[in-house]
Amino acid sequence: MQRKHPNSEEKVTLKILVDKKINEVVFAEAGKDFVDILLSFLTFPLGTIARIVSNDSNMPKVSVGSLSSLYQSVANLDVSHFSSETCKEMLLHPRNSSEDYSQNIKLNIDDTEKTKYFICEDWECNRQGRGGLLSIFRNTRCKCGKLMNREILQEKTSLLNMLGFVHDESTFIIFDNLSVIADNDQSGFYQPKNFGYKYFNAMKVVPVNITQKEIVDLLKISLLSKTPLTDFFLRREVFNMNLPKRDTRVFNDVRSEPCDEGYSSLKVMRRKSSNKILFALAGDDFIDILLSFLTFPLGGVENILQGKSCLRSIDNLYKSVVVLDPIKDFKSPNLKDKLVNSRIAQQFKLQNQIFLVEEDPIVEYCFNTKCFGFANNVSNLYLTTAPGYLTLDGYPFSSPLVYVNPLSES
Ligand SMILES: [Zn+2]
Repeated sequence: MQRKHPNSEEKVTLKILVDKKINEVVFAEAGKDFVDILLSFLTFPLGTIARIVSNDSNMPKVSVGSLSSLYQSVANLDVSHFSSETCKEMLLHPRNSSEDYSQNIKLNIDDTEKTKYFICEDWECNRQGRGGLLSIFRNTRCKCGKLMNREILQEKTSLLNMLGFVHDESTFIIFDNLSVIADNDQSGFYQPKNFGYKYFNAMKVVPVNITQKEIVDLLKISLLSKTPLTDFFLRREVFNMNLPKRDTRVFNDVRSEPCDEGYSSLKVMRRKSSNKILFALAGDDFIDILLSFLTFPLGGVENILQGKSCLRSIDNLYKSVVVLDPIKDFKSPNLKDKLVNSRIAQQFKLQNQIFLVEEDPIVEYCFNTKCFGFANNVSNLYLTTAPGYLTLDGYPFSSPLVYVNPLSES
């Protein structure tokens, strides 16, 4: 489920204001390209983040606490422990519910394959008027027993052509702690006093270019550092050699579904001398919930933790996006919600999920069979959102398709 990166030589440009006395970045001024990249981090599922940071970039791979070990455990588990091969793949390559917006941005670092649609390999099965099946996972099993591996494209009119999140001409100030504010009159560099900085003479403006590989560095540093811009632009080598330990935090007000019954029970082995849990024995309901964390988007997790995770800079990024203007600062008003209330991708949510992370609603599709008499000509067949009607010979022009649920596949 991986796709090839675009031109890796591409760069985005921004300017940073450096305090020469203490060698720190005061803030950066950036346009759409860089800000879209930063905001796209909030749309990444946790499994995607664990995968990206486990690869070398200019920096060595990093671990994001137990998230990285959870991801690696799934990778190491034999596929026989999962309901299907698809279920394991869903955890290792969870989809991004904002892929239509985030995958076309400049220097996108999420290499997850974009959603594709599949129907039964058997034309006769698809030819049925009602009850035809649709899958967003390759090689799931059709009700007829054959594989659903025939890719079908969406009708051109239902394809989104959105590029990123913020307006093309907008400018933003990004502080060293990753807070972002709109710089509508583009005066940030001329009025640092507005942001509480007095000694403008000790500051210099530096233009910088960033490559795709460096964006992976920036994500790694943003997960670990409280001053990610300074560590990224000015102290990367030192930072590499002394990777800071993750913050810990006591979580109180986690948003979850009210739960009257059906608690998962587990047995734990505790070492009395240190009062630490050595391991737990749990059933599939608890394991399902644990593994489903990998499908949660970062912005959705920040939402249920109300901007108080143990990732301080990501918290700052999240909380600053919460107060951006949905109309003035975003290409369309719903895009802010896609970041601060990021949803799990369609069909990735557990039925008994206890956490309040919503699932992206599925799009109902019909199978357009207008040219079915020439069935071998695949290019004439497509998915449409238009309702169907019958032809004179009794075959429908377009008939509704029902999604195969990979989580209930036997
Ligand atoms: Zn079939």
